[in-house]
Amino acid sequence: MPEDPRRALPSVDSLAARLGVRPEPHGMVTEAARRVLEGARTAAAAGQEPDPEALVRRLAAELDRGVTPSLRRVINASGVLLQTNLGRAPLGRKALEAMADVAAASNLEYDLESAGRGSRHEHVRELIRRTTGAADGIAVNNNAAALFMVLQAFCQGREVIVSRGQAVEIGGGFRIPDVLRQSGARLVEVGTTNRTYAEDYAAAITPETAAILRVHASNFKVIGFTAEPSSAELAEVARRHGVRLFDDLGSGCLVNTEDYGLEHEQTVQESLAAGVDLALFSGDKLLGGPQAGIIAGDAGLVGELRRHPLARALRLDKFAIAALNATLLSYVFERQDTEVPLWRMLRASEVGLKRRAGRWAKAGGEGARVVPATTMVGGGSLPGQGAATWCTELRSPQGASDLAGCLRDQPVPVIGRIEREGVLLDPRTVDPSDDRSVAEAITNALSQLSR
Ligand SMILES: *Cc1c(COP(=O)(O)O)cnc(C)c1O
Repeated sequence: MPEDPRRALPSVDSLAARLGVRPEPHGMVTEAARRVLEGARTAAAAGQEPDPEALVRRLAAELDRGVTPSLRRVINASGVLLQTNLGRAPLGRKALEAMADVAAASNLEYDLESAGRGSRHEHVRELIRRTTGAADGIAVNNNAAALFMVLQAFCQGREVIVSRGQAVEIGGGFRIPDVLRQSGARLVEVGTTNRTYAEDYAAAITPETAAILRVHASNFKVIGFTAEPSSAELAEVARRHGVRLFDDLGSGCLVNTEDYGLEHEQTVQESLAAGVDLALFSGDKLLGGPQAGIIAGDAGLVGELRRHPLARALRLDKFAIAALNATLLSYVFERQDTEVPLWRMLRASEVGLKRRAGRWAKAGGEGARVVPATTMVGGGSLPGQGAATWCTELRSPQGASDLAGCLRDQPVPVIGRIEREGVLLDPRTVDPSDDRSVAEAITNALSQLSR
C-alpha cells in the first residue's frame, strides 16, 4: 500500500525556514505557512503529491498578497471617463502638488494674520464664489452629504416638493426619497414620471412647505413625451409662494459642454443665475476634482450651514480642500483644458488616440486591432453622451472574459471593457504616461493566455 502523501508535507517551521529572510514578523509568516499547508493537506488527501518548491512559492505569494494594500492604482482603459467604481475624476498634477504641499503642517484652521483660530471653511469660499458666481459657498464630504445637510438644516419636520420624475435612485443605494426621510423632511411628490409642470409645484405648496427640490436626472434619460419646468420657472414659483428652491445638479459643470462636442449640461452658473437659493454638486464628476459636495448660493443660507453641527461632521480634510482649490483655480485661469484631466481627455484628438491605440495593438500582435468606438462621460453625468475615439480590440481563443481577467491580474491592473467578444481598451481614458504599462500588460496577458 502506497504511503499517505500527507506524510510528505513539511512542518510549519521547516516550510517557513525554507522561505529565507522576509520582512514580515515571524508570526505572520507562520500563520501564512499554516494556511498554505492546510490547502496542501486537502490536495494531498485527494492523492496529489506535494511539491516542496511549489509550497515555498505559494507561501511567498500568500505573504506578498498580505502586504499589498487593498486600495491600489489601476489603469482605467474602460472608455468611461468618470467611473465611480474606479474613483471617478482623475486628479491633475496641480491638484496632486497642492495636496503634497499641505501634507505636513498647513494653516488649515489657523489665521496667519492674527495667529489665532481660523476656519477650514474659509479656504474654499472665495474660489467657489469666483467660479460659480454665487454669493457664498461651502464644501463638505460629497454631494450626498451636501443634500442631506441642506434638507436637515432647512426642511426638517416640513414638506419638500419633488417631481415624480426626479424622485430617483442615483446609484449605490442613494435614493432621493430615502435621503429626504433620513433628514427628517417629508416628501411631497408632484406631477407624473414623464411630465411635471410649474403649476403642479404651485398647487402642492402649503404652509408646511419648506422647499422645492429639483434633482438632476443624472444616470438616465426620459425621452419622448416629457416636460419639466426650468430652474427659472421653479424659482418664480418659489419666490411667489415664499418657499426655497434647492437645485441638486449632481455633476456640477462649470463649462459649456457643447464646446466639447457634448449636449448642453446646465451649468452651476446658469442654475444660480436662474434664481435657485442653493445649487448642490459633486467635486469629482464634471468638475474634475476630488470627492466633495459643494453648496453654492445665498449668503444667509450658506452662513447657517457653516454654523450647523453637520458642517463639523461632514467636513473636508486638508487634502480635499487643497485639491478642490487647485482644481477651481484652473477654471479661474481658464486652463481646465490642459490642467483638469477630464477636460484634457475629452479634448484629445482622434488622430492622436488612433496612433496610441495602434501602438498598443502592436504590443498585442496577431490578437489585436484598432477599432472605432465611443468614450462615455459616465459617473452619472450626461447619460448616453460620448466622444468618438479609437480603441485597441484584443481577442483570445480563451474568450474575452478570461482575457479581461488576465489584464486585471497584471502588476498594474488594466481595466478594459468587453464588447462583441473582444476586450476594448480606450486610450482616451488613459494618461499617455501609462501607455507603456498598458502595452506591457497587453503583451503579458496575451502570452500568459496562449501558454
Ligand atoms: C452623483 C449625484 C449625487 C451624489 O453625489 P456624491 O458626490 O456621489 O455623493 C447626488 N445627486 C445627484 C443628482 C447626483 O448626480
